[in-house]
Amino acid sequence: MSEKKEPARLVRCPNCGKQAKFTPGNPYRPFCSERCKIIDLGAWAEEKYAIPVARPEPALDPTEPPVDTGDEND
Ligand SMILES: [Zn+2]
Repeated sequence: MSEKKEPARLVRCPNCGKQAKFTPGNPYRPFCSERCKIIDLGAWAEEKYAIPVARPEPALDPTEPPVDTGDEND
């Protein structure tokens, strides 16, 4: 088996658009640098927190009879 040495794969940094090496040697891949990674992750987190969480209303079935909680002698 002959292992070919592939040229460093380049990807576009999602943050700045620069060419970033997509190799094990680049711990920040697919970002070009640590800075871009942090910036992008920060932006993502902010965006995440900015989006209001859609809370589905508890399904109250009006056809459901009220739960009998026991005797109510009044
Ligand atoms: Zn970058």
